[in-house]
Amino acid sequence: MLRQLKEPFQYQRPDKAAEAPASEQAAGKGKKKPRAQNASQTLRQMWSYLIGYKGKLFAVMVMILLSSGFSLLGPYLAGTAVDHFLVNRDSGFVVFLIGMAVVYALHSITMWLQSIWMITISQKTVYRMRVQLFEHLHRLPIPYFSKRQHGELMSRVTNDIENVSSSLNSSVIQVFSSVLLLIGTVSVMLSLSPLLTLLTFLVIPLMLLGMKWITKQTGRLFKAQQRNLGDLNGYIEETLSGQRIVKAFSQEETVITAFKERNERILVSGFWAQTISGFIPKLMNALNNLSFAIIAGIGAVFVLNDAITVGVIVIFAEYSRQFTRPLNDLANQWNTMLSAIAGAERVFDVLSEEEERTDEANASELNEVKGHVVFDHVTFAYEGRSATIKDVSFNLAPGETVALVGPTGAGKTTLIQLLCRFYDPSSGSIRIDGQDTKEIKRENLRSHMAFVLQDPFLFEGTISDNIRYGKLDATDAEVEQAARLANAHSFIVRMKNGYHAILKSDGSGISQGQKQLLAIARAILANPSILVLDEATSSIDTVTEIKIQEALQRLMQGRTSFVIAHRLNTIQQADQIVVLRDGAIIEKGSHAELLQQKGFYSSLVGGHLQSS
Ligand code: ADP
Repeated sequence: MLRQLKEPFQYQRPDKAAEAPASEQAAGKGKKKPRAQNASQTLRQMWSYLIGYKGKLFAVMVMILLSSGFSLLGPYLAGTAVDHFLVNRDSGFVVFLIGMAVVYALHSITMWLQSIWMITISQKTVYRMRVQLFEHLHRLPIPYFSKRQHGELMSRVTNDIENVSSSLNSSVIQVFSSVLLLIGTVSVMLSLSPLLTLLTFLVIPLMLLGMKWITKQTGRLFKAQQRNLGDLNGYIEETLSGQRIVKAFSQEETVITAFKERNERILVSGFWAQTISGFIPKLMNALNNLSFAIIAGIGAVFVLNDAITVGVIVIFAEYSRQFTRPLNDLANQWNTMLSAIAGAERVFDVLSEEEERTDEANASELNEVKGHVVFDHVTFAYEGRSATIKDVSFNLAPGETVALVGPTGAGKTTLIQLLCRFYDPSSGSIRIDGQDTKEIKRENLRSHMAFVLQDPFLFEGTISDNIRYGKLDATDAEVEQAARLANAHSFIVRMKNGYHAILKSDGSGISQGQKQLLAIARAILANPSILVLDEATSSIDTVTEIKIQEALQRLMQGRTSFVIAHRLNTIQQADQIVVLRDGAIIEKGSHAELLQQKGFYSSLVGGHLQSS
């Protein structure tokens, strides 16, 4: 729970450069879209992406048409050459042999063209899907993420989109050329010998039955496989990012066992999906041989009766192969497509999630914030739960500090989330400089705030980049000045490479206290009017602690500050102390006033709170 609650603050200062460009397609802007619940819906959504490449798609279709034509023509020329050679015994067969060479060469060229064009289309399509999905993920409201595993979402951006890509690369061409080949082959066969054609068709019902059974099984299995993979990814991400906790509680064995269970599920679903789908070519091959035997046997009888020529048997033998191959391909592609559709469905599922509500039409921007903050009878309930914040009112003059105090679960974090509009109050209002926050654009509102959290969010990059996150266009000199004010300069210059030292995203390499100093430097650089400080509960060495306190004093100077406080001296220095229990304010006042009341606060001070 702790992790979930902390996450919102990772998005401290929305990067203005990342402001979403208008995304192009149907999938995913603003309004809630119906979820992709079935294949036809998903295919329609897929089509909305492909339609952008109409011209290229048309060219691919033309190439498919030509290559199918050439591959029909090949056997016909072969059969005719055989007749010239065996039946007419003339040299005409040479012309047909040359014709065959030309036809097969053209066939290769058209196949190659359709393939590279289709690859271009599919790569561009999935490129766009990836961008849209990533953009959309960053515009989803915070509650969406607290309900889901990160790894599972990552799997959608990587695995699922990759599936769509590989299927687009091969399946579209295969499906169209297979259908064309089927129609063409059957028409030519019928025109040559309807009887032999009907005999060849004897195997079709067997094929259809086999395929139907197999695809029914594999469709289900591929879906399960995809789900299991996502689940495993999520679990890996969770345990890796929670490594310290896992080790601290000696949970390695439990984690490994749970991993094995998930891995095993993939093993089972993967094994059956692959085995059963791998059975398709074998089945088709066997039926193919059967139809070949029928053609050879019965065809020979027809030749002896002079009903057909040997050339026709050659053509039929070749066509019967060409006739089962598209069926075979269709069956194979069906699986790839099912897995791609399952992938696309999961992608569209995210895209159809409602984005963080767009700002109200009358929302305005505040250029300058003095920092007068009013919580006016604020009540709030998380979805499906009873009220977490109950009728909370308090008033902060610009530059004042409020210490939010109360036991875990009292609603301190929730109050902050309401302040920065991750959620909006169900009733009552929060006003900044007299303006209801609901009337202020979210991004603008958050740009006037900075957060210093217990476990500051650092990303992979240099120290100076990490500080600059507070103000992207800050000069090196400004970064250094902020670091000096934050008491971070001295430890930074002692590091190899100083401000250019690379930090790992998990912040390993520097201490918890140093991370805090960097977060303070970042906040100083951002120069917000409103500051949110989640005081560290973990103990930090005394020297660093003094540095942090000093830096915080400087940071809080002249800013309206909300402190989720754990240390007595921070609380003592606050202008106001708001004591929360079960979401309601039970006491409010200065340290001295509250001690006099001898209520909950004075018992907290006497008991749990420690002086640092
Ligand atoms: P504090 O910061 O004082 O420890 P919180 O504001 O985190 O308290 O939590 C207040 C209450 O709201 C708790 O009962 C907590 O379980 C609940 N809560 C917090 N976040 C959520 C959420 N995303 N969805 C549902 N309930 C939540």
